[in-house]
Amino acid sequence: MTKTERITWLDENRIETEIAATAAGADRLRVREILEKASTLGGLSEDDVAVLCAVTDPDLVAELFHTAEKVKTEIYGPRIVLFAPLYFSNICLNECVYCAFRRSNKELDRKILTMEEIEAETAALIDQGHKRLLLIGGEAFPKTGFQYLIDAIERIYSVKRGRGEIRRINVNVAPLETNEFRRLKDTGIGTYQLFQETYNRKVYEQMHPSGAKADFDWRVSVMDRAMAAGIDDVGIGPLFGLHDWRFEVLATMQHIAHLEDAFGVGPHTISVPRMEPAVGSDVSMAPPHMVSDFDFKKIIAILRLAVPYTGIILSTRENPEMRRDAFRLGVSQISGGSRTNPGGYATPVEEQAAQFTRGDHRPLDEVVRDIAASGCVPSFCTACYRMGRTGADFMDLAKPGLIREMCGPNALSSFMEYMLDYGSEDTCAAGEKAVAAEVATMEPKIARYSQTMMRKVREGKRDVYR
Ligand code: SAM
Ligand code: SF4
Repeated sequence: MTKTERITWLDENRIETEIAATAAGADRLRVREILEKASTLGGLSEDDVAVLCAVTDPDLVAELFHTAEKVKTEIYGPRIVLFAPLYFSNICLNECVYCAFRRSNKELDRKILTMEEIEAETAALIDQGHKRLLLIGGEAFPKTGFQYLIDAIERIYSVKRGRGEIRRINVNVAPLETNEFRRLKDTGIGTYQLFQETYNRKVYEQMHPSGAKADFDWRVSVMDRAMAAGIDDVGIGPLFGLHDWRFEVLATMQHIAHLEDAFGVGPHTISVPRMEPAVGSDVSMAPPHMVSDFDFKKIIAILRLAVPYTGIILSTRENPEMRRDAFRLGVSQISGGSRTNPGGYATPVEEQAAQFTRGDHRPLDEVVRDIAASGCVPSFCTACYRMGRTGADFMDLAKPGLIREMCGPNALSSFMEYMLDYGSEDTCAAGEKAVAAEVATMEPKIARYSQTMMRKVREGKRDVYR
């Protein structure tokens, strides 16, 4: 395979210089200036972010967290969007040293789902109450090739169960060609998501010794191809644990700046996966750059301030305590009731076919109840992309703070739908309280819309959104 042309927007020397320049710690006055600037919701520059990454003083960290909480609440209110990953396969031609799906791992039962099995997984997820899926798997399609993915998406959208269906499919698959992205877009996906793992070339080479994924430039340029093909919403993120987290955060800022320059809009979401132990992976027990819980919270808070309108996604990897802290500091989407082994929803078994160890083993209903009990509003909304509010249009809508006018009522009506159709008694009790508390804080006009939308749902209408 020929190497892809070297990308030019990633400046590793600049990042190293920024890290070295702030190694002695962060200047108090400068930090406070940056936090002041972040409070105006205008985002931060790469230089600002470098300074925040160096903050260790407990008082300043507390101020950083406090500012992130304020920004999170101001833009997103208390809603947390829920989704589930659907693993279609654990077969992979790559050798990522940290992943259980790596080709040479003999300790794994390999499986790629048939269309019937995809349908069964979808049905099981709909029966839990999910409306949004992330379709995800190893880098290898069966004989039908890329068409498998298209067929899988069409099959998932076709499944109807009682009053439920999947309304948005996001996709996380190995980098595609531009023409494949065009076909993917035509199936009506939401976000195309891919993690860079690490933006450091040397570390990347060590972690990805063979297979198509060994080509750093092919991977790091993937969003250019996706966006050129018309996919407006893309999701990026490093895998924290492979290299110095400060390097990864600053490189993420460069990636965002590049997409903004090239396409007029940055990523729709940033994921913050942290490496977990995985069966048969080389670095399972000791990530080379373990990120502490404390630093992980700083990462979330810094990203929240740096790109206030970009969703931050936390996955199954984190335990319930970390998830609760993460909501406060900036996370806007989480997975719930997840399985990381193909077929794991329809036929729950011991997860010896899973990609990594999950930190949160609770069923969706419990996750939803916990979110509601902590004062947040679980949201199953899928309105934006169906209303054409994607890419720059979404950002234009988000920036003046309108996100709350649309997303707040949509969160409430979709949560009401969940409670009526799937919620347990305890979850509904916690949920009704959370709904009432949220409506009480809304501007009268928005509260009225919300009440009207929830009334329609109580009266039997479904999929009510604006
Ligand atoms: N195979 C494709 C790829 O690698 O891009 C897409 C799916 S892969 C299953 C999704 C992500 O799982 C990877 O991008 C990687 O960041 C993450 N992952 C792999 N091993 C992990 C581990 N041990 N802990 C946490 N995340 C892991
Ligand atoms: Fe395959 Fe993705 Fe796992 Fe790498 S991270 S081994 S490409 S599934």
